[in-house]
Order: sequence, then structure tokens, then C-alpha cells
Amino acid sequence: MAHYFVEFSYLFASIFFIVGLKSLSHPDTARRGMHLAEVGMLLAIIGTLLHKDIVSYYWIMVGLIIGGGIGGAIAHFCPMTALPQQTALSHAFGALAATLVGISEFHRHGAELGAAKTVAIGIEVLLGALTTTGSFVAAAKLHDLMPGGPLTFRGQNAFNLGLLAVAIGCFIWLLVFPGAAPAFYLMLIIAFIFGFTLVLPIAAADMPVVMSLLNSYAGLAATATGFAISNNVLIIAGTLNGFSGFILSVLMCRAMNRSITNVIFGAFGSVSETSTTGPGAEMREINLEDVATQLAYARQVVFVPGYGMATAQAQHVVRELGDTLEERGVTVKYAIHPVAGRMPGHMNVLLAEADVPYSQLYELEQINPDFPNTDVAVVIGANDVVNPDARDNPKSPIAGMPILDVDRARSVIVLKRGKGRGFSGIENPLFFMQNTGMLYGDAKASLARLVQAVAQA
Ligand code: NAP
Repeated sequence: MAHYFVEFSYLFASIFFIVGLKSLSHPDTARRGMHLAEVGMLLAIIGTLLHKDIVSYYWIMVGLIIGGGIGGAIAHFCPMTALPQQTALSHAFGALAATLVGISEFHRHGAELGAAKTVAIGIEVLLGALTTTGSFVAAAKLHDLMPGGPLTFRGQNAFNLGLLAVAIGCFIWLLVFPGAAPAFYLMLIIAFIFGFTLVLPIAAADMPVVMSLLNSYAGLAATATGFAISNNVLIIAGTLNGFSGFILSVLMCRAMNRSITNVIFGAFGSVSETSTTGPGAEMREINLEDVATQLAYARQVVFVPGYGMATAQAQHVVRELGDTLEERGVTVKYAIHPVAGRMPGHMNVLLAEADVPYSQLYELEQINPDFPNTDVAVVIGANDVVNPDARDNPKSPIAGMPILDVDRARSVIVLKRGKGRGFSGIENPLFFMQNTGMLYGDAKASLARLVQAVAQA
């Protein structure tokens, strides 16, 4: 009877995961999707706790209290801007859990595992171990505990491929001689080292792509764990995790017009300058009162948020300015670039936190034809995603990356602190155009002053 209950709970958990994942594809249903997935996880945990193989609940309770305590504290104390490193840490611990299950299974059963389970455990430990150290390095880079730029040395790619080859060699050794402990533990150590050296040369700004790739490895490690310990919900959830992570990495790369191999082996962040900005070109500074007047008497204003809005935590005050303008009869829209910020959906999450209605958010393809009808485009800490060189200059390092065509608006106001460059490190000709005015300062402070100035205009 208990067996049927366990299998039913796994079946329903899997259904909740699939429906939850589907619901995440639209902002209107995303919150519900998260709740459905949470219910699925609860069912899976209850089912697992009733499993006949459990010999003692003591250590499970200890793990639950420690893990729940750490997770709760991280969720409570970490700011929204630290979400990428939080995610990296959760991947690291998930992958470590899969690796430990693999080690324990090998330790307990050794040569008795049989060929199929040895393959499953080999994959589990290989992917789990490299994801663990890779994700720790990603979190450290994102949190500035390590230099964020690419850490490279001569022959690095060859060295990494060599490590991978030795690890795969150990795997084959294990298949030929089942239960060979030296092969297993050598493979484990090399996989831990490989995760570390794989992520070292990747710049912090590329971490979101790497993380979703590592997430996909962690998912596949969980699938392998499911095969190793004959657990259906792990197989299904791990596969969903593995493939959604991979699809997300591909979509992010496409939105940046890069390939996954370029992200992993390219050491991006040390690009050569090939901007179309003419020599001696000057940026035109504009004062706050002029901006307020332009906004107050515009018919349509489009806000274009970017990474700077996230670092300034300016989302609430952007909405306040939007509301003030709407009260004056101005049409307000928000243009969302798929890779604005530093993680997928970064701008959506921040604007949703500030209660900006979804109906005012426009994706790149929807808003671009509307820029010529826009009186003022307000760029809030965005840079690369509005760089016209990506569209007009085939020699630009970001050539081909789809951009928001803000330069086609009648007037462009750029809110940034100074002459700092974006993630790609290249110059942006938009800032030098005649219809562009630069309003220098922290985005949150500038917007707060604009709210007051517009109200008085
Ligand atoms: P960006 O190109 O990184 O530019 C951000 C700009 O914000 C900087 O030029 C900076 O200029 C300004 N800024 C920083 N702090 C600010 C503050 N407190 N107030 C006002 N301005 C501030 O950002 P983006 O346009 O959003 O582009 C995102 C980039 O990240 C793209 O190149 C994308 O390919 C990459 N990326 C994104 C993802 C993703 O999933 N979203 C993943 C990987 C890579 P100042 O220093 O002068 O203020």
C-alpha cells in the first residue's frame, strides 16, 4: 500500500513540475507556476519520506533543519541583486548532494552495481562534481570574492580538455573493471578540479549563461542519480531541469549573438575597440529641468531599463515617475531586452517587484517599430542593449546582437553615472548622437529628482 502511495506522490509531483514549468513561460502565470512546482516538491519529499528504504529519520531531520535554516537565511537576508550568486550556490549544493549519493552507492555496492548502474553513477559523479566546484567559482566571481575578469593562462583550453580526457579515461577504466576504487576516486577528484578550471577563464558577466549550463549538468546528474537509486521522480525532475537549463543557455547566447563555445572558451571581456564613434565626438549633458519638461509634455515615453537600474535599485522610483507621467496623460511603456541586466528575466523581476503592470512591458520585437513614434526614450542604466553599433557596424564585437532601437526615438535621455562602459566594454555611439542628452548621476537619485520636477512642470 505504502509503495503505491509513494509512486502516486511521485506521479503527481512530476505533473505539478511539468505544469509549473509551462506556467513559467508567461509573466501572468509565472507566480502560479512557482507555487505549483513548490507543491510538486512537497509531494516528492513526502513520498520519499515514506519510502521503505529509509532506515532512520534521525539524520534526515538533522539535514532538514540545517538545510532549511541556511536556505531560509539566504532567502531572507540576500538582496534581489545577489540572486545570481544565490542561484549558483543552490546549484553547487544540489550537485554536491547528487555526488554524495553517487559516492555512497559506490562505497556500499562497488562491483555488485552491474554495468547499467555503474554508468549511471559514473555520469552522476562526473557531472555532479564538476558542477559543484564550477558553481562555487561562479558564486565567488559574482560576489567579488574572486576577480570577476577572465583568469587565463597559456594552453588553458588544452589543459582543460586534457583533464576531461583523463576523467573520461577513468570512467572507461571503471566500466572495464567494475568496482575499481582507484578509477572511481581519481575520476571524482579530476571532475572537482575540472569544474574549477572550466569556470576560471569565464568573466563574471558571462556567468548567467555558464550557470544555466551548470544547472543543466546538475539536472542531468540528478537524472543519473534517479537511475542509480531507481527513483522515478528524480529521473523526471532531473531531465526537466537538465533540458530547460540547456534551452535557457542557448536562448541567452542567441540573444547575445554568441555561441556557447565562445562563452566557455572565448574569455570574453578583453575585446578590441571598433566603434563607429568619430574622433573628438562629445557627449551632450542635459539638465534635469529640461528633461522634466520634455517628459511632462510628451505624448509617449518609453523607459528602457538595464543593468544600472538593477544596481541602483531604481525600479520603484521608475514606476513612480511612470505613474506621475500617466496622471498627466502621457502614454508610458517599458521596453524589455531579453539580456538586459545580468540574468534572464532580470528586468521583468525588478519591474514586477515594483508592481509595474505587465500590460506596459513590451518585448524587443513589439517595441522596436514604436520608437519612431516615441517622443522620449529614457535609458536607465542600459548600455549594450541600446548600442546601435550592434545593428549598423559589422566590425563591432557585438555585431548582430538584437538591440532596442532607441536611437530612432525623437529624443533620447540616458541616465548613467559617468562614462562607464557596459558589460562588453565597448563605446556606445548612441551617447554621442544629436538627439541624445546625458543626465549624469545614480539612476535612483536622478529619477527621484525627476518625479518632483515633472510634478512641478
Ligand atoms: P550594461 O551594458 O552592462 O551597461 C550598464 C550601464 O549601467 C553601464 O554603462 C553603467 O554606466 C550604468 N550604471 C551602472 N550603475 C549605475 C547606477 N547606479 N546608476 C545609473 N547607471 C548605472 O547593461 P545592459 O545594457 O543591461 O546590458 C546587459 C549586458 O549583459 C549585455 O551585454 C548582455 O549581453 C550581458 N549579459 C546579460 C545576461 C542576461 O541574462 N541578462 C547574461 C550574460 C550577459 P556608468 O558606470 O557610467 O554608470
